[in-house]
Amino acid sequence: MDLIDRANQQAQQMLEAQLANQLCRVYPPAESLHHCEECGDPIPEARRMHVPGVRLCVSCKSRAERRGQ
Ligand SMILES: [Zn+2]
Repeated sequence: MDLIDRANQQAQQMLEAQLANQLCRVYPPAESLHHCEECGDPIPEARRMHVPGVRLCVSCKSRAERRGQ
């Protein structure tokens, strides 16, 4: 019984590891830029932490949103 439990546990762990790998491939961790992609202004650390994968500074972002992006 113990053996089967352990085997199940290992199978479960392998499944979870595989799942985690797949998720990583589908959603690569977005990297926040240090400087705005558009105007080159430095992006504040707080904004980079708050917005994962941020690429624009606040003013460019709001301008982009007004353009409908
Ligand atoms: Zn900008």
